[in-house]
Amino acid sequence: MDIMKKINRDFIIKQSYERLFSYVINYPFVRNISFIAIDSEIDNNMSKLDMPKKIKNFFITSKSKNIKLKSMLIKKITKRIIKKVENTDIIVSIFINDNDNSNTIKEIINILIALFNAQRDNIKLINIKCDNDNYYNYIMDSIIALQFQTKREQYEYIYDITCDELDKHFEKENFCDFQNDRCIANRNKMSSKDIMGCCYSFTYNVLGDIKNKKICKFLKGKKCTTKCMACKLYTCKYLRSKGITFKAKDNVLLSSFFNKKQLRVLSCNYFISKEEIIEKLLEKNYMPYIIYYIMCKEYITVKQ
Ligand code: SF4
Ligand code: SF4
Repeated sequence: MDIMKKINRDFIIKQSYERLFSYVINYPFVRNISFIAIDSEIDNNMSKLDMPKKIKNFFITSKSKNIKLKSMLIKKITKRIIKKVENTDIIVSIFINDNDNSNTIKEIINILIALFNAQRDNIKLINIKCDNDNYYNYIMDSIIALQFQTKREQYEYIYDITCDELDKHFEKENFCDFQNDRCIANRNKMSSKDIMGCCYSFTYNVLGDIKNKKICKFLKGKKCTTKCMACKLYTCKYLRSKGITFKAKDNVLLSSFFNKKQLRVLSCNYFISKEEIIEKLLEKNYMPYIIYYIMCKEYITVKQ
């Protein structure tokens, strides 16, 4: 059974090292096995365990200082590691420990991205041990995204689930608190218009002044008809004064899957459709970020 051929959650198991090793002994792998553990506290989790002989390569990404594990410890997935694990069946085992935080999750996702980009077909099993539902979902969503064949599909998946997550969060917290088409900023006279929140598009003239301010073309039947990431991340001056802000660079999935230029595309392109944003994300652009930032600054629409 090639467990990576289907995009679903069933090939993921949740085991301790002990049970995982006994699973490895009994699982019908035909080739040598490479075992890649991602575990910040490997010393505690691995103590007194016998590694199955079927495992020919054992790598651990961990900050562990354990002298006995030294030869296995790696910082990231390098070309040397990829060379060693090619032509083997790869098992990835991820342990999330109590002291791990969202930065650890980003590091794990970056390791998964490097592994999938280089060895996608050889990855046969992924073990995730994680008691934190949010972290578990981030890792699961990354694994699902990485199984798509094209960058477009990967980007669309990450884009959609992030938009859905932001929508749910805004709805649950009722930040904008619409009443009779007027949001809380409209009602408190903290917005340039009195109704329909901040869904007004505009452009700049050569002097940098705002012109052509009008209701956004995507607002139909009082509902947004596209998924614009910049709009979903946006909070107005009123909400920001209450400490409510969202940044693409602070989002675990966005900051793991997109580079600095792409994060800027996601943060600054208001009033445009999801399809147009995905095209911008896929554009090849080799300009250094600082030059990109200066050159593109005036062309990017920023909400008021
Ligand atoms: S972000 Fe501010 S202006 Fe826009 S809808 Fe929400 S409360 Fe209103
Ligand atoms: S694209 Fe942005 S401004 Fe336009 S309707 Fe949707 S949320 Fe409102």
